[in-house]
Amino acid sequence: MKTRQVIVKDLPKGTLTQDHFALTETDLPAPKEGELLIRTILMSIDAANRAWMQGATYRAAILAGDPMHTYALAEVIDSRAPKFTKGDIIAVETVWADYAVVPAKGAQKMPPVETLSHLMSVFGIAGKTAFHGLLSVGRPLPGETVVVSAAAGSVGAYVGQIAKAVGCRVVGIAGGAEKCKWVVDDLGFDACVDYRDPAWHKALKAACPEGIDIYFDNVGGNILETVLFRMNERGRVVCCGAVSQYDATAPSGPRNLPGLVVVKRLRMEGFIVMDYAHEDTTALRALQNWVKSGAIKVPEDIVEGLENAPAALIGLLAGENRGKRMVRVGPDAV
Ligand code: NAP
Repeated sequence: MKTRQVIVKDLPKGTLTQDHFALTETDLPAPKEGELLIRTILMSIDAANRAWMQGATYRAAILAGDPMHTYALAEVIDSRAPKFTKGDIIAVETVWADYAVVPAKGAQKMPPVETLSHLMSVFGIAGKTAFHGLLSVGRPLPGETVVVSAAAGSVGAYVGQIAKAVGCRVVGIAGGAEKCKWVVDDLGFDACVDYRDPAWHKALKAACPEGIDIYFDNVGGNILETVLFRMNERGRVVCCGAVSQYDATAPSGPRNLPGLVVVKRLRMEGFIVMDYAHEDTTALRALQNWVKSGAIKVPEDIVEGLENAPAALIGLLAGENRGKRMVRVGPDAV
């Protein structure tokens, strides 16, 4: 059987472009014992895709010639593993392709849901990352001020909404006045600061009159440096990612470390969403309740077609997306 797939033709050194990718066709082997033949439905597009091209992270690096790896929702077409049968919908690590043969180990059978894409946004990695990072690492108290960067993105949108739901004052940081307006008007943040405005540090000060108790950092770099100046004593900096550095040729900021961490007695802690897998059931129950009550909205940004996956990733890094970006490769199963 043949499948289309998108490979990383050349590894980027600076800004990612279409030239780094190629759409190819390849033969798929029949699944062996312990493997599944799957049909991709939705692929998650993540800033992490770009980070994987920079070298090994919490997972192996992508090399030139490799298909791009992804987290996807897929339908089992053929199973050589006892736990799965044809027609199952699974969450699985696969590649940018219409079809793939994957190990069954690591695949997870999904429950029936009303809206399949929610398993990739609010009930997927984005929602769980926001929940665990904010509540377990940041540990907010009602009345505290929470600031989150990449606020209109998939993780940031939930961080802010969860922080509001637990009684915090929430300030987003995002690129562009229009995006900031959306974060306030549609997502219900108390304020949002446009970091592309040269005077944004003054706007941040004005938006946080009582300082910042928790900074949920999705971007690193100069934004992290600026926010550290406004942290309150005993504040918490939740280090979730560093998207400002993934496409950069040289690293930037922060230059005020460890000085400000010492003086302000800050706790700065990184985490990976899988660290809290043992608390996923609690997270999902809470997220379901918030979605049902309307306390949390589910912004999704779905790009159609496997061939558009490179553009979807390039656009994500340029800040095109509002909410969770994914690529629809095929229709939901009937
Ligand atoms: P995302 O918001 O869907 O997309 C990235 C957003 O980052 C863009 O929309 C853009 O919005 C912003 N951005 C891009 N370049 C920037 C720059 N130079 N400076 C400031 N902002 C920039 O991404 P996501 O999926 O929510 O991920 C957010 C972060 O969480 C990433 O760093 C990712 O690696 C990390 N993450 C970590 C875990 C974990 O387990 N620790 C899990 C999932 C994700 P603007 O228009 O606002 O610039």
